[in-house]
Amino acid sequence: MRSPKLGTLAVHAGEAEIYAVPAVNVPVYQTTTYRFDTAADAAAYLDAPEGKWLYSRLENPTVIAAERKVAALEATETACAFASGMAAIHAALVGHLAAGDALLVADTIYGQTTRLARSLLGRFGVEIVEVPLDRLAEAAAAAPPRAKALLFETPTNPTMRVVDVGAVAAACRARGLVSMLDATFATPVNLQPARLGVDLVIHSATKYLNGHCDHLAGVVAGNRNVMAPVFEVRRVAGANLDPAVAYDLIRGMKTLEVRVERQNATALRLAEALEGHPRVARVHYPFLASHPDHALARRLLRGGGGVLSISVKGGYEPCARVHDALQIVARASSLGGVESLASIPVISSHRNASPAELAAQGIDRGLLRLSVGLEDADDLLADLGQALERA
Ligand code: PLP
Repeated sequence: MRSPKLGTLAVHAGEAEIYAVPAVNVPVYQTTTYRFDTAADAAAYLDAPEGKWLYSRLENPTVIAAERKVAALEATETACAFASGMAAIHAALVGHLAAGDALLVADTIYGQTTRLARSLLGRFGVEIVEVPLDRLAEAAAAAPPRAKALLFETPTNPTMRVVDVGAVAAACRARGLVSMLDATFATPVNLQPARLGVDLVIHSATKYLNGHCDHLAGVVAGNRNVMAPVFEVRRVAGANLDPAVAYDLIRGMKTLEVRVERQNATALRLAEALEGHPRVARVHYPFLASHPDHALARRLLRGGGGVLSISVKGGYEPCARVHDALQIVARASSLGGVESLASIPVISSHRNASPAELAAQGIDRGLLRLSVGLEDADDLLADLGQALERA
């Protein structure tokens, strides 16, 4: 063949020999499509796609590496990654529900998840049945025949309530419901829900799995049969994780255990220290003896997690003054990063909750939620101490 000209060289030159370098890390496969050697290879893809490559909405090596890591951490056969936690929840629900079905949803759950269920699935004929957090197993056992799935969270935001995950999963299994647990706050370091019988484990990987507050990502993990409809939703709806983000998610997960162990320890230390503080009415942290789910949490969880909430005496105004006086802890929503973050639920995550809903969830207007990062525990304690002086 004649020598290629500049335009052709610009497209093809120099790349062939570095397609398969034995790098220590999985590279970012920043590609939407893959080469076939022959027409026979291209045709064979559709007969048996497993282990072959066609198009990155269907499969991408960097994303698959991230998914396999999640599956290993969650002790499941597979995992499916998405562009955000909400996309992951959406795929789990849409994959398993159809018009005429009912979905049981815990009443204490991330606000956008409730909204997704009510306002989106509701429009497509799925009945949403909200269930009190402490009655999930009973509700599963008594679920009507049209109920197909139950979605819940543990620990919950912002009061860190803990559910008996094994009992709920067993009740779902006995009744033929798909159990779906958003375990974002727990992380696989503190809880591996699939080992307790949960069918689908969901994470906003935006939080602890990635761990650096720099990407949105979501995952659903579970065994092959129950995951097949979830993969199908991603294939056709296309809320895929970008390979560059998958690379950062892989890197984040490499330090997950080290980060979460440290966050567990710091959060417990802050919770214990703040519990006796004269300006603090109450501390919500599951590893404190004063927490309503303390015994269950100690049995179920390896650590109490990196989030705690403190109820500042006097309500919203003093709480806002404490919030505004923080110097190391950033005033920001979200959680699970290396930076400590503080937010006030009644003006953020629970802004639209009615007084009755707030009361039912134990959220008062003076509640300040803290997501503990990796800063020195003494410095965080000093920052909170000086801020509480302004209450
Ligand atoms: N689930 C929980 C428990 C969350 O806290 C969040 C976000 O705050 C989500 C799901 C949604 O995740 P994302 O923001 O990645 O879509």
